[in-house]
Amino acid sequence: MTAINENIEFIKKQIKETAIACGRDPETITLIGVSKRKSADKVSKAIEAGSTNLGENYIQEAVEKIDTLGKDRACWHFIGHLQSNKAKFAVKYFDYIHTVDKVKLAREIDKQAAKIKKVQKILLQINIAEEDTKSGACAKEAISLAREFSRFENLSLDGLMCMPPYFSDPEEARVYFKKLVRIQAEIQGAGLDTPAHLSMGMSNDFTVAIEEGSTMVRVGTAIFGSRD
Ligand SMILES: *Cc1c(COP(=O)(O)O)cnc(C)c1O
Repeated sequence: MTAINENIEFIKKQIKETAIACGRDPETITLIGVSKRKSADKVSKAIEAGSTNLGENYIQEAVEKIDTLGKDRACWHFIGHLQSNKAKFAVKYFDYIHTVDKVKLAREIDKQAAKIKKVQKILLQINIAEEDTKSGACAKEAISLAREFSRFENLSLDGLMCMPPYFSDPEEARVYFKKLVRIQAEIQGAGLDTPAHLSMGMSNDFTVAIEEGSTMVRVGTAIFGSRD
C-alpha cells in the first residue's frame, strides 16, 4: 500500500483529469475521504495531505475520532445508517448527513438541530437499485420526501446520495448514477428547491460518477487501504 498522501494526490489528479475531459470544473467536485475503521492517526495524515472532507459511518467511532482530532480541522460527513436515537450526536458533530431517508429521522434531526440553533445540511439517500440489503428511500418517494423535508426549519436539503451495487466493471454503475440525476431533475420539476449536491461514486467507480455529474465522491479504500 502506498502512503496516504500519495493516494490522495493521485485521486485528486484523477478527479481533475476526469472533470476536465468531460467539460466540468474540477472545483465543483469534493473529495470525501472515507475513514471508517481507520485510526485517528491515519485520518490526521489524510487531513495534513489535504483531504479536509471526511466521511464516517459509525457514530460512536466518529465521535471519539473527531474529539481526538478536533472538529474544526475538517468538514465532517456522516455517511452511515443513522438511527433516530443517535441523531443528536450526528447533528452535534457533522456538517452534512448524507443518509436521511425517512420523515421520522428528518423530524428528529430537525428537533436536535433546533436545540442548538443549527440549520443541519442533509442529503436524501435513495436506494437506487432497490436492494433489500441497503437503506435509502425508493425513487418514487423522492419528491414527497423532498417536499416534507423542506418544511423543517432547521434542515437544509442540499443533495441526493446513492450507493449502487458493487460491479467489477464500474461502467455498470453508470445507469444508477444517471437515475439519481433524473430524480434530481424531477424534484426540481416539482417546483421544489433543487438539491444541488449529488453524493455518488466510491473508490471503484468515482470517475464514472463524475462523468455523470457527481459533486461529492466518497473514497475510502483507494486512500486508506482495505478495511479488515
Ligand atoms: C465505506 C463507504 C464508502 C467508501 O467505499 P470504498 O469502496 O472503500 O471507497 C463510500 N460510501 C459509503 C456510504 C460507505 O459506507
